[in-house]
Amino acid sequence: MAEPVYRRVVIKLSGEYLAGSQPFGLDQPTIDRIASDLIAARELGAEIAVVVGGGNMIRGVSARGMSRSTGDTMGMLATIMNCLALEAAIEGKGAPAKTLSAFVMPEICELFTRGATHKYLAEGRIVLLGGGTGNPFFTTDTTAVLRAAEIDAQAVLKATNVDGVYSADPKLDPSAKRFERLTHTQAIEGGYKVMDATAFALARETSLPIIVFSISEPGSISAMLRGTGRGTVVAG
Ligand code: UDP
Repeated sequence: MAEPVYRRVVIKLSGEYLAGSQPFGLDQPTIDRIASDLIAARELGAEIAVVVGGGNMIRGVSARGMSRSTGDTMGMLATIMNCLALEAAIEGKGAPAKTLSAFVMPEICELFTRGATHKYLAEGRIVLLGGGTGNPFFTTDTTAVLRAAEIDAQAVLKATNVDGVYSADPKLDPSAKRFERLTHTQAIEGGYKVMDATAFALARETSLPIIVFSISEPGSISAMLRGTGRGTVVAG
């Protein structure tokens, strides 16, 4: 079996994706499919941490009747529910996983620390990182880059519905151009909607490559880890 190109990665999985074709909530067949993909990718020998979003439940920026901070806090809690769903699906298939949270919640899961993450990755577990950065006004895209820098990951794999960064939304504009490679600065200046500017800026600062790819195809995570997948590389 081909060796993975990356020894340790952080995969950013949007909460929205976990809803499948529904507008809200958790779609179990989708979660099961992603769990299988993550397990297959882990079997290549790479260490995998997953930062899970919460957009399938709540985003602070769109919350009504509360402050942005309260909405963001609820969004961060949603990411932990998503982690628990994914953890259950992975473990249900017989593979070890572990949810770590940015918040202290000992009855539910352990606190994220670099040490705990290294330990569980070394045990071969798929580590699910919930609770975002633990601070409002950030996103889980930025969390993915932050955690990747903290745990010395070699890349952030940003899972989306499209196979890379495009000059415009390819679903709306058939003339949209797909980029094979961009610098972090080009990604920020281009204003491409695929990831927020804070995430790209932190990746530039920490010299972390971000690879944007489509998770719609089963097996795409393994392909990205082998270096054979299709995606846009955003790097120095
Ligand atoms: N969030 C936050 N701080 C963080 C990460 C997330 O406040 O460090 C909140 C924010 O409200 C965000 C929500 O959690 O909208 C869900 O995260 P995100 O929108 O990144 O999820 P995704 O789009 O990936 O599903």
